[in-house]
Amino acid sequence: MAGTFQLQIVSADRSIVNETVDQIQVPGSEGYFGVLQGHTPLLALLGTGELWFRRGSETSYVSLSGGFAEVQPDRVTILAQLAERADEIDIARAEAAKRRAEERLSRPTMDVDSERARVALLKSLIRLQVATRARVRG
Ligand code: ATP
Repeated sequence: MAGTFQLQIVSADRSIVNETVDQIQVPGSEGYFGVLQGHTPLLALLGTGELWFRRGSETSYVSLSGGFAEVQPDRVTILAQLAERADEIDIARAEAAKRRAEERLSRPTMDVDSERARVALLKSLIRLQVATRARVRG
């Protein structure tokens, strides 16, 4: 069984997580990857997705979008463009963002940037998923 390591998640303006953990899952730009203590050093770009970290039987969730992760054997540092802990997510705001993005995608016009709308939709879906996790765990 692998040991613990330090997880630090920061965004441009604040620290979001600084905890000792057993295991994490990270939304890389090329897909999700897991990290245990002793992992080979690497740098990875982040996509939009759900990050989770586990300590003992407790799992916590963070919505993430963009940035990069630096993995060291005893520490993972995540510099996120956007990150929110599950308990910080405003569900009504995420639902409104989801509706707006769906609306833009369903009626594409010259002035709609579809790629931007797709990213906004994915971010809102991830936020809603992460917020739901917080409540299930209750
Ligand atoms: P919206 O359209 O709802 O304003 P957005 O896509 O413009 O969303 P972002 O650029 O993703 O917003 O984020 C801007 C800031 O607001 C970031 O600090 C982000 O963490 C925060 N944020 C965005 N949506 C939510 C949410 N539903 N709950 C909590 N914080 C949020």
